[in-house]
Amino acid sequence: MPDTAPTSWPARAEASSFFGFTDLPSVRERGTVVLTRGEGPYVIDSEGRRYLDANSGLWNMVAGFDHAGLAQAAKAQYDRFPGYHSFFGRMSDQTVMLSEKLVEVSPFPRGRVFYTNSGSEANDTLVKMLWFLGRAEGAPERRKILTRVNGYHGVTVAAASMTGKPYNALFGLPLPGFLHLTCPHYWREGGPGESEAAFTARLADELEEVIAREGAETIAGFFAEPVIGAGGVIPPPEGYFQAIGPILKRHGIPLISDEVICGFGRTGEVWGCESYDFTPDAIVASKALTAGYFPMGAVILGPDLADRMQAASEAVEEFPHGFTASGHPVGCAIALKAIDVILNEGLLDNVRALTPQFEAGLARLAEHRNIGEWRGRGLMGALEAVADKATKTPFPAELSVSERVANACTDHGLICRPLGQSIVLCPPFIMTEAQMDEMFEKLEASLERVF
Ligand code: PLP
Repeated sequence: MPDTAPTSWPARAEASSFFGFTDLPSVRERGTVVLTRGEGPYVIDSEGRRYLDANSGLWNMVAGFDHAGLAQAAKAQYDRFPGYHSFFGRMSDQTVMLSEKLVEVSPFPRGRVFYTNSGSEANDTLVKMLWFLGRAEGAPERRKILTRVNGYHGVTVAAASMTGKPYNALFGLPLPGFLHLTCPHYWREGGPGESEAAFTARLADELEEVIAREGAETIAGFFAEPVIGAGGVIPPPEGYFQAIGPILKRHGIPLISDEVICGFGRTGEVWGCESYDFTPDAIVASKALTAGYFPMGAVILGPDLADRMQAASEAVEEFPHGFTASGHPVGCAIALKAIDVILNEGLLDNVRALTPQFEAGLARLAEHRNIGEWRGRGLMGALEAVADKATKTPFPAELSVSERVANACTDHGLICRPLGQSIVLCPPFIMTEAQMDEMFEKLEASLERVF
C-alpha cells in the first residue's frame, strides 16, 4: 500500500465505498461510522464507540444484533443445505415450510407466497404479477398503479415509481401510469377547520375521482403502507382504510398492503392491516421477516389473486419472473426462526408492553417549542420539527435540522433517522424500559443542542 493510503476504518470506507441515501456534507461534519459488532440493541463502531440503535438497523433488526437462536438457525441450515433457487418446479423444504407458516400467520384463509431478496423486488414482482394477470385475463390495458405522495415502496424502477418522493424526479421517474394520491397526513394536509373525518372523506372522494378520470379498467392495483414509514411515520387518518377499501373493491382494484415495515409486529399486531382493521388482497413483506439476519422479501397473495395467478400461469403461460436466490433455504430457515422468536418468545408482547412508554416519551418531547407534532403506532414514531409551532412553518430545507439532530444523537451514542423535517424512531422489539429511557434522554439532549 502507498504511504498515503488511509488507515482508519472510516477513512478506508470514505476512500473505497459509495454511500446512497446519504447527505454527504452533514456526514462529513459528523464523520463516517464503520460498525464492527453488536450487543442486543447496541452497535459498536471501529473506534470502540457504542450506540443505542433506535433505528433497528433500517427497521429490520427487531431481535437485536446478537441473537444466538437466529445465528444458530443460519448455521444449521448452511451445514444442511446452503442454497437453492425456487424455480422450475423445485424448491427447498425450508421454503415450503416458510410458505405454509406465512399463509398461516397471514390474514388469508388460503394464500400463496413468492420470494424475493428485498422489499423493492417484492413490490416490483407484484406489479409484474398484476400486469401479467391483466394480459392473461384479456384486459391488457389494466396497468396503472395508484399510490400516495410520501409513500415509500423501494428503489427498483417500478418500486421507485410507486414511491411518492420528489427525489425520484432525478431519475426521470415515475414511469408513466404510476399515479400518486394525496398524502394521508391529517396534521399537514388537513384544511383549515377540516375535521379528521372530513379529511378522510376528501381522500376517498379523490380516489373516486381518479378512478372515474382514469377508468377503473385501466387500473391494476392500489399500493399502501398501513403506516407510511420512510415517508416520515404517517399513520392514516381515522377510518381511512374503511373508506377507500370498499371503493377499490367496487371497482375490482386490488388493495396491496406494503407491510415491509409494519409486518411482523411493528404496529403492535402481526400486520399493520390488522392494526387498522382491513383485509388487503395481497401483502408485501421483508425486513422483520428475517429479523434482518438475511436479505429476503415475500409477496403473500390472498386467495383471489393466488387462484388467478395459478389459473393464468396454468392456462396461459408460465410466469417468467424470479431471482436466483428466491426462497433461499438459509433465508427461509432464518425467517422461520425469526417468526417464532417474534410471535412465541415475547417480542410482539414486548412491543405492546413498551408502546405506552414510547408514546409518552414522544408526547413529552413534542412539548418542545420546535416540535410541531408527534405521531406513531406501536414501536414506530416520529417527531416533526417546525420553525414555528403555531403556524406549523417548517425550517428552511437548507438548514437540514433533522440531520443536525441526528448528528447530535450520534455524538450522544444514539442512532436515529432524519427524514425530511422529522426524526424517526423505530427501536428493536427487544428493548428494555431502561434502554427506552436512555433513548429519550439522549434524544432530548440532542434536541437541546440543536434548537
Ligand atoms: N416498502 C416499504 C414500506 C419500505 O419501507 C421499504 C424499505 O424501507 C421497501 C418497500 C423497500 O425495501 P428494500 O429496501 O428491502 O428494497
